[in-house]
Amino acid sequence: MTNESMRRTKIIATLGPATDKAGVVEQLIRAGADVFRLNFSHGDPDEQRRRVKMVREASHLVGKHIGILGDLQGPKIRIRRFKEGRVQLTEGQMFVLDSSLDGNSGDETRVGVAYENLTDDVNPGNVLLLDDGHISMLVEKVEKPRIVCRVQVGGELSNQKGINLHGGGLSAPALTEKDRVDILLAAELEIDWMAVSFVRSAADVDEARDLLRDAGCGAHLVAKIERSEAVVNLESIIDASDAVMVARGDLGVEVGYASLTSLQKRIIKTTRTRHKVVITATQMMESMIHSQIPTRAEVSDVANAVMDGTDAVMLSAESAVGDFPVKAVAAMAEICLGAEAHDLVSGRRKGRDQHFQNVDEAVAMAVMHTTAHMDVAAIVALTESGSTARWMSRIRSDIPIFAFTRHKDTRRRVTLYRGVYPVYFDITDTNTERLHQDMFNKLIDLHKVDPGDLLVFTQGDLTGISGGTNSMKILRVTGSDQPVNSHNGQSDH
Ligand code: PGA
Ligand code: MN
Repeated sequence: MTNESMRRTKIIATLGPATDKAGVVEQLIRAGADVFRLNFSHGDPDEQRRRVKMVREASHLVGKHIGILGDLQGPKIRIRRFKEGRVQLTEGQMFVLDSSLDGNSGDETRVGVAYENLTDDVNPGNVLLLDDGHISMLVEKVEKPRIVCRVQVGGELSNQKGINLHGGGLSAPALTEKDRVDILLAAELEIDWMAVSFVRSAADVDEARDLLRDAGCGAHLVAKIERSEAVVNLESIIDASDAVMVARGDLGVEVGYASLTSLQKRIIKTTRTRHKVVITATQMMESMIHSQIPTRAEVSDVANAVMDGTDAVMLSAESAVGDFPVKAVAAMAEICLGAEAHDLVSGRRKGRDQHFQNVDEAVAMAVMHTTAHMDVAAIVALTESGSTARWMSRIRSDIPIFAFTRHKDTRRRVTLYRGVYPVYFDITDTNTERLHQDMFNKLIDLHKVDPGDLLVFTQGDLTGISGGTNSMKILRVTGSDQPVNSHNGQSDH
């Protein structure tokens, strides 16, 4: 049995110039990447097309199902450019943000802003944070189109750095014109997940979902929690989404970094109890942009996210532009495994009064109850949409959950679920015994179970119906002299 070495927490690596070099994506997959992030904030459409093609090819080559997560830029508000490219700001000096200023004319006293409504959104007394909070300024006067500020924390400020309003409250809608165009590209690229940046409410998520559907994009939706408003509306945003991301970069700037850790724990817990999927992101292995080993603080950060119960941990600049993308993934994989050995996560819900809304949910709960009281080696969910596997992995993930499915998009999507592993499987035989044997052979072949092991198996009567799982069986694995059914041996990436 190889379960001990099966990592449950999934790893997302952001694509970028550092992963464009020949062979790197393949090495990242071998090192443990499960999902790649395509960041629509950078790169032109042809670059995105090329990167998706690279991932699909490498996935095929390695023989591992890999998901692709698109990430929309959203209304990130930025300053424009400086004449000299950068300026040095000193504490106490005045500095003006001016939306009427020419885009390249910034100097030590003022700079342009690429968002006209900023003057409507800020008031004297507000604090603006620039460059991920490296620089902070207090708003003293608002004289449309100028915002006059006093620098509180100075330093170097260079072209096109981001602006956040401490405490939130910027009115910019979550979906920009660029995002709408990128959604069309995402549909063309058949990506598996789409992350929406700076959502404020469930209505923003609904709007994104409508746009995806209209574009014919089957991607499931990730709401990035990175605005103060999103924290207030957390429950309804989770319910409207398929997954959320603890987007600690912008979130830390908006809420202040001292609140971030407790917020991360709350977001992860709330998401899991609402049966959705959660990603923890940003600066997890930041020092590995230039260093071959992580700091102890980073090791601890990744391990804590795992112990909090996150489905996935994410690398941003570490893989996209870092010097050691493969080492960063390998280190992350090792830390996840180490932390999982002391897994404290249990989502088991208390109380007998809980009411199941769906038949597949009820079956999933029955499975998890059984595995808590029997030595089961693996769970197999014969699934169309992957939802039964997701329900189960919300409860516990120390027993591997194999999502057996004929659907390529389901196999790619479940790559994000903690403790869930996709397997290509099509029912070619309606004879129950032969179906079971095919399934056993497949897992024996993959070295995931041995003859004699106990397996829990879930299935629906009507295959082809998503959410149709209505039965659970407990089976003892038997070996077979027959070769594995060739139909099931194929794998389609
Ligand atoms: P970003 O989102 O990397 O697109 O900014 C993540 C974050 O804000 O943490
Ligand atoms: Mn962000």
